[in-house]
Amino acid sequence: MTKVNIMKKMPEKVIIPLKQHDGTACDPLVKKGDMVCEGQKIGECGVYNSASVHSSVSGEVISIEEAPHPNGNKVNSVIIQLSEEPECVDFNPKDVQDSELADFIKDAGIVEHYGFPTHMVLKPEGKKIDVVLVNATSSEWIGGHYDTPSQYSSQMLDALKLLMRASGASKGAIVLRNDDLESINAFDGLNYDGKPITVAPLVGKRKINYYFKDMSSDIVVVSQEHIYGKKILDLFTYNVTGRKVSFGCVPTDVGVAICSVKSAKALYDAVNAGKPYIETVVSVSGKVNNPQKILVKIGTTFKDVIEECGGYIGEPGKLIANGSITGVAQYTDEVPVSKTTTSIYVQSADEVVRGESVDCTHCARCVDVCPVNLIPSRIAAMSDQGRFDECRQMHIMNCVECGRCAAVCPSKIHVLQLIKYAKNSIEKAYEDLAPKESPANLKLGCGCSGGE
Ligand code: SF4
Ligand code: SF4
Repeated sequence: MTKVNIMKKMPEKVIIPLKQHDGTACDPLVKKGDMVCEGQKIGECGVYNSASVHSSVSGEVISIEEAPHPNGNKVNSVIIQLSEEPECVDFNPKDVQDSELADFIKDAGIVEHYGFPTHMVLKPEGKKIDVVLVNATSSEWIGGHYDTPSQYSSQMLDALKLLMRASGASKGAIVLRNDDLESINAFDGLNYDGKPITVAPLVGKRKINYYFKDMSSDIVVVSQEHIYGKKILDLFTYNVTGRKVSFGCVPTDVGVAICSVKSAKALYDAVNAGKPYIETVVSVSGKVNNPQKILVKIGTTFKDVIEECGGYIGEPGKLIANGSITGVAQYTDEVPVSKTTTSIYVQSADEVVRGESVDCTHCARCVDVCPVNLIPSRIAAMSDQGRFDECRQMHIMNCVECGRCAAVCPSKIHVLQLIKYAKNSIEKAYEDLAPKESPANLKLGCGCSGGE
């Protein structure tokens, strides 16, 4: 399996954002001058739509201030200078009852890579989950986490059971990509709970329900094509379960909780080793001397990660977090790796100059490819002018951030980046409004019934 290296040189300082998820930011539990240990909780928030934050290192809190965040904004962050003799909170396995698991996940700070706190996916307020899916089709975090393929597959199945227990779901599935032979081979033929696992293909009308019955099992492993796009969960839900997620709804509205391999692994580690979410695997590529997948402490700056990868090749032009098409360009490399950072891509100065944008020609290619029927060119133009209300009226919040509009644009306009900027600004405005407004005025209702 693809090797994942462990960062050998510890950074001198880490910047740990107090908000690494969609929802409410944490309040700091420490202050300047405090000494903290690796694994110590340093931020929490009492409301449900938040996840705790832990220190990934031992050291002294030198500041709590607004600092750059990979989402492009500034976020209140705890800055910790590492001590020479690291101390660690004792990590011990936890015996957690089913009814306590959701709170346990919140407390361990586990979030999905697209930003949603995992406990909210598993136990959404006012909804019932009956099936949990582990989406292993974006497998960039898988390789190298494990010594052997069977260790990976059996841990993932154990993690799926934990996720099912947390959600109360009676059924669960691990979904692999049908061209990911390493993962398919890791599961196929594995003897788990006294039964051999068979990886079943999702073809035509054969969705997971077919295999639950056919294999007389509440847990199955299936494979399907890779669906491109960070937030295309609705399409994924339909492909795997056959349940349609109506416009404006989310998979949990039809009883489906979708978790990533990363959060499944984090939950496994939290229960079996007592370890909170303090490190993550990042894929570093582009103009660096030694591109690789690397396990880093959350809060490590991109600069330190790139140095560990042998440094830049030549003059860096652009740094992009989370994918060259769908990611966010960074204005500094002093930005920290957060729980939602999956990759860092470095472009050379030459590549950036070649990629300079020109005026929109209104060719409508971006409109043709948008899977959710938006008018990306128009929304991007509104965003560029700061007209976020108009973006909202044009249903910007339905954008699934697939990046197709930016990829096809002959004028090289940063369509996705402008859309994300507006979405972030709208979300931020709503957060600021929330304490003053009735929630009923801020959220649209959903008529999903969950039928197949
Ligand atoms: S606006 Fe662009 S990024 Fe958003 S869904 Fe449409 S094509 Fe994808
Ligand atoms: S693809 Fe680019 S140039 Fe064409 S309409 Fe969309 S934003 Fe404008």
